[in-house]
This record gives sequence, structure tokens and C-alpha cells, in this order.
Amino acid sequence: MASVTLSGITKSFAETQVIKGVDIAIGDGEFAVFVGPSGCGKSTLLRMIAGLDAPTTGEIRIANTVVNDLPPKQREVSMVFQTYALYPHMTVRENMGFGLMIAGTAAQAIASKVAGAARMLGLDALLDRLPKQLSGGQRQRVAMGRAMVRDPKVFLFDEPLSNLDAKLRVQMRTEIRALHQRLKTTSIYVTHDQVEAMTMADRIVVLRDGKVEQIGTPVELYDRPGNAFVATFIGSPS
Ligand code: ADP
Ligand code: MG
Repeated sequence: MASVTLSGITKSFAETQVIKGVDIAIGDGEFAVFVGPSGCGKSTLLRMIAGLDAPTTGEIRIANTVVNDLPPKQREVSMVFQTYALYPHMTVRENMGFGLMIAGTAAQAIASKVAGAARMLGLDALLDRLPKQLSGGQRQRVAMGRAMVRDPKVFLFDEPLSNLDAKLRVQMRTEIRALHQRLKTTSIYVTHDQVEAMTMADRIVVLRDGKVEQIGTPVELYDRPGNAFVATFIGSPS
């Protein structure tokens, strides 16, 4: 059970409180989307779940274990960022296997994990290429592959498609959802794009200024927005 639960989370940077008491429960296998305007605290929440930042107060549980004091490696989460951050001098194969290699995984096991992820992502033919020989969409697939080979309990996506052009973005949305259908790994996907949220989410968490405005399925939010902010934000084209 890889549920993710945030209870009473606040986060301050110096004097400024940017997360102002957040309670969110994500179910095992759910694809949850955190959506809200730039600066509302989406990345900060993800970074705290990943263990890259510590909450000022509150408790984070992954698979019913309190992880507040666990370092990122022990949380079994994989994060996919907006900037692909691939190693330019390494091939696709090396980029995908690098994390496992430094974790001490045996070469044979790495090869088989990389092959499995490459097959699922349609990267088989590209394994010996360098990042500069790939398109933007292919690079983002490699970034996902790198996250997948670690068999995480939870995927965290931080605006992974915002550097791609509109057409590719739509295609990648479908691909990420199809991948989730197969893997069923609990996923938290952050975006400021309401269309992305509405088309991808099992459930949407609408955030504003460090607080949760509403949590619901796309249909629930569309049919019964809890307040004017949600109605305007969800209803307006991106
Ligand atoms: P989002 O991802 O929704 O755009 P962020 O989580 O990046 O928002 O940021 C939320 C708020 O916290 C912003 O006002 C941002 O300036 C502030 N913030 C984020 N990280 C830091 C930091 N390391 N130090 C100070 N302020 C930060
Ligand atoms: Mg962000």
C-alpha cells in the first residue's frame, strides 16, 4: 500500500510561511494532480514528499510509514522534473542506469531494468544515443525511464511537460496516463495547467497561496466547484 498522506503540513522559509496547513490523502495507485497558479507551493509540497525539503510542522506518511526523518533514498519515491537534467556525456542506457549503478545494483540487474523500461517507453532503438541526439519528447521519456528503473512506490512529477510544445504535450499526457494504467504506481503530478489536470487526474487537489482550496475528481470540480477561485481557475482556458 503506497498511499501518501500529508497531515497538518506547514513550511516557512525564514519569516515567510509558504505552506499554510495542508492535509491531503492520496490513495494507493491513485494518479493525483496538484494544480494551482505559479508560486502557490506545488513544488515545495513535492520536494517535502521526496525528502528534499523538511516541513516546518506536520507529518508525511508514505505507505503508512512516517517518513519525516527518512532521507530521500529511503523513501522509495522517484521524481521527474521539468528540466530533464540528463547527463550530456552519457548514453540513454547510461543515463537510465546511473542511479542504480551508484546504488550498487549489479550490472546484470541494471541491464534488465533498463531494457524493461526502454521497452515500455519505446526507447529500445535509442539506448546508445546521447541526449543531444534526442528530441524533447524522447529526452522526457528518458527522464521517466530513469525514474522507473528504481521501481519506486510513488512517482512525483513536477511540471514534466512544460518545456515541450503544445502538440507533444498532449501526446505525452496520454503516454504518461497509459503508463500509469500499466504500472499502477501511486503518482502525484504537479502542473499549473488546468487542462492537463482535468485530462490526467483521478483526483485533483486545487492549491492557492499555500492552502488546499478543494479536492475532487475532475467531474466533481467541474460540476461543483467549492468557491469562486476554483470555478474561475478550472473553468478558464490555459
Ligand atoms: P510553485 O511550484 O507552485 O510555483 P513553489 O513551491 O516553488 O511554487 O514556491 C512557493 C513559494 O515559496 C513561492 O513564493 C516561492 O518564492 C517560495 N520559495 C520556494 N522555495 C524557496 C526557498 N528555497 N527559499 C525561499 N522561498 C522559497
Ligand atoms: Mg513549481
